[in-house]
Amino acid sequence: MVYETWKPEETYELGERLGREAAPGMIYCLEGDLGTGKTVFTQGFARGLGVEGPVNSPTFTILQQYEDGRLPLYHFDVYRIGDVEEMEEIGYEDCFYGQGVCLVEWPSLVREILPEEALWIYIEKDLEKGFDYRKITVEERR
Ligand code: ADP
Ligand code: MG
Repeated sequence: MVYETWKPEETYELGERLGREAAPGMIYCLEGDLGTGKTVFTQGFARGLGVEGPVNSPTFTILQQYEDGRLPLYHFDVYRIGDVEEMEEIGYEDCFYGQGVCLVEWPSLVREILPEEALWIYIEKDLEKGFDYRKITVEERR
């Protein structure tokens, strides 16, 4: 499925819609260069799940956990990860194989531990269509 957004609010809304539809155990892998809108999408997603508080990029902590939504949300940003062993130290397995929902920014950096079944979301710019344009591809892998 391919979506196009022309401003941050639209990316937020797409995230919100997917957040409303999320089911326990689902894993969302979010691909996109720095500044494409992964965090904007995640903020909408969290809102759609019913998370009330502010959602920021957990770049310096790798994992940020939200328990006040309809389902627990585990937000990983593995941009600064050195080794996948750090994921084990964090206890990712309880998140990936639990009853919550996981969202992983920079998933390719931890590819070897990702389950085969996941939703992959690619956010891309296309400057020919404008600075705020984003193409968002949602792909279910199983
Ligand atoms: P990332 O987490 O991928 O590094 P962020 O979500 O932190 O990126 O930042 C995306 C930036 O791009 C924000 O400043 C946002 O306002 C801007 N932006 C402009 N157009 C869009 C769009 N269509 N969708 C999402 N973000 C957009
Ligand atoms: Mg981010």
